Amino acid sequence: MIIQKSFKYELRLTSSQEEACCQIAGACRFVWNKSLALKKEAWEKDKKNIHRFELDRFLTEWKNELDWLSFPPSQSLQQVNKDLDVAFKNFFRRLKEKKEDPGFPKFKKKGRNDSFRIPQGVCLADQLSKKVGVVKVPKLGKFFFTKTREIEGSIKHATISRMCDGWYISFNCKVEIIDPKKEKELIVGIDRGVKRFVMCSDGKEIKGVSPFKRNSKKLARFQKELSKKKKFSSNWGKIKIKIKTIHLHIRNIRKDFLHKASSQIANSHSIIVMEKLQTKNMTKSAKGTIDNPGKNVTAKRGLNRSILDQGWYMFQQFVEYKMLWTGGRVVYVNPRYTSQRCSVCGHTSKENRKTQTFFCCLSCMHKENADLNAAKNILAEGHSVLACGVEALASAMKQELQARRPSTV
Ligand SMILES: [Zn+2]
Repeated sequence: MIIQKSFKYELRLTSSQEEACCQIAGACRFVWNKSLALKKEAWEKDKKNIHRFELDRFLTEWKNELDWLSFPPSQSLQQVNKDLDVAFKNFFRRLKEKKEDPGFPKFKKKGRNDSFRIPQGVCLADQLSKKVGVVKVPKLGKFFFTKTREIEGSIKHATISRMCDGWYISFNCKVEIIDPKKEKELIVGIDRGVKRFVMCSDGKEIKGVSPFKRNSKKLARFQKELSKKKKFSSNWGKIKIKIKTIHLHIRNIRKDFLHKASSQIANSHSIIVMEKLQTKNMTKSAKGTIDNPGKNVTAKRGLNRSILDQGWYMFQQFVEYKMLWTGGRVVYVNPRYTSQRCSVCGHTSKENRKTQTFFCCLSCMHKENADLNAAKNILAEGHSVLACGVEALASAMKQELQARRPSTV
């Protein structure tokens, strides 16, 4: 099986190389904004889409007019039009699906997500030392990077991007893995919680990290300082960088944790049963709509923040692809009643769960940790999904949706 994997490293640029990267990223941003403006106009005027080949022709014109636009590798600029094409395809798809916010592609601002892609011709040269890798970039020459781990497979393309603490290169590689097969069938149900990140049906648990919570005081302090400074002054800029660095730090901790947690679960099981959680909908619901304003907005917001904080959605994605790589599979079940049902006798009632942490069945008096009880229910649901196929789940979900839909008078 061939999979795509990316490997990201910090670049060690000379000042002239850094300047070149800034220029290319700026040129890419320029092309993005110019092309987007054209596409936006065509769309707003007559709901038309300009194809990227047409945009590439405009690009040639712009290059003739502007000298500095001929410095970046042509392919990097053409790549921008390709990316824009994808952004519009996604927009049209969401429009077709009648999504609340189809997300029209946005203009890019200087200093935010500066990056460019080198679609072809990137290759590695002999390493300078054990820790310093060398990459040859067409038109730009040799770049050094801090090699923190080995690159696997063959490089397809590379992306150079700026984070608040420097420039990075990410290699996208084609990696061949031996068709995996798990040695034994091991199925587990997992319940995702706020207090405990994951509770497994076999009683194992993974505690979460809340990097945002841990850094929130520091962030608030800098944000307050920032508000006192004159906008765009040099001191304002310094604090802004500090804030960005904290955000990056938070992101890194979270990602690292999610990788470890997902590997731990994926490596030791062949089937993982999870609830299908719509994290996006959950985070949206706190505010409610104008007709139906949300209750307990602050409390829900707190919960929502910790959901986002722990990155369940990312976790779900990590588990999914890691299971694919290791030959396992993920089964999703309907989250209905999993926290209210007794895992021993099946009695389902809100009253069974008097507190967030404790479950006590009113019918058979079974007492258990509430998350563990839920994980066992999820596992049981998983077994029935596997036994009767996916169709059963789909129809159950449909019924549930229809039941929830308010009747129109
Ligand atoms: Zn019971």
